[in-house]
Amino acid sequence: MKGCQAKDIETLAALKVLVAAKYPRWTSLVEAFPNMPAKVCLAKYRKLMTAQLIDGCDCGCSTVAEITQKGREWIASSLMAGL
Ligand SMILES: [Zn+2]
Repeated sequence: MKGCQAKDIETLAALKVLVAAKYPRWTSLVEAFPNMPAKVCLAKYRKLMTAQLIDGCDCGCSTVAEITQKGREWIASSLMAGL
């Protein structure tokens, strides 16, 4: 995968990773997308927070994130739309 921007990680893919993780953290994205630079994964994580799809801390610490109700609805509607 080419590109080094947060938008290069699909929101649905990122959310799925966080939903599936036992302890969802921004580093879960680093593990799930090993070909993406860590700073890009953190940027994506912050975008998910800005969009209120997840609840957590965006400073780069190891605080565990929570998928918000909005995030769960977003996943459900994306799956229904066949994205
Ligand atoms: Zn923090």
